[in-house]
Amino acid sequence: MPRVIVKTVFKDIRFQCQRCGSCCHHKRPLDFDDLVPMEQIKEFWQKSNLIYLTEKDVTAIAKETGKKAAEIVDTLFDYDGCYVKIRDNGCQLILDLPVMKSKEDTTCIFYKDRCSIYSVRPIACRLFPFRVEEETLTNGDILLNIDCNLTCPGIGKGKKVDKRKLEKLVVDQFLQRTEDINPHVQRLNASGAISKKARIFRTLPGR
Ligand code: SF4
Ligand code: SF4
Repeated sequence: MPRVIVKTVFKDIRFQCQRCGSCCHHKRPLDFDDLVPMEQIKEFWQKSNLIYLTEKDVTAIAKETGKKAAEIVDTLFDYDGCYVKIRDNGCQLILDLPVMKSKEDTTCIFYKDRCSIYSVRPIACRLFPFRVEEETLTNGDILLNIDCNLTCPGIGKGKKVDKRKLEKLVVDQFLQRTEDINPHVQRLNASGAISKKARIFRTLPGR
């Protein structure tokens, strides 16, 4: 079993949300294709601002708002509860993870002067301005590197960030996503549908 290691890139940091709403605008950079290969994922994360949703997020928001999941999420392919697709005879493994839908002006569908679903806002929103880069180490362990988005005007203000709380949120998000993806990958693997040479892609939904 690979270990999951969490590392915070910064030492001490202060943060207090200034409610500017800028993280509720979802950037979808034009210089990427709909399928983003893993080799480009770091650059993609640096240039985009998408709110990735776990199944638990979608269920909580749907319950609170009375909306159907398909009204909340964007995926590149049809939203059918399975985010793992294969193409090209199993040589492409595509992770079409759901992201929060935006309005035409790129703001989140739940932004109305402020967040209208604050009590059930997704884990990705609770994490902002901190972001996580996932890396698989040569021994198979998974490293979750926590960095922060310095464009957020709340950085450097308010109280010192409680790193343990932050790390717990990051691990929760990782475990929820693993639960969402792994059963599908395992099923496809067991049926021999995924080629040993498969390249992995993430999608850029909702553009
Ligand atoms: S987290 Fe940062 S970017 Fe988002 S609303 Fe607060 S101050 Fe603005
Ligand atoms: S759910 Fe709330 S906090 Fe998250 S992007 Fe939408 S409006 Fe902003």
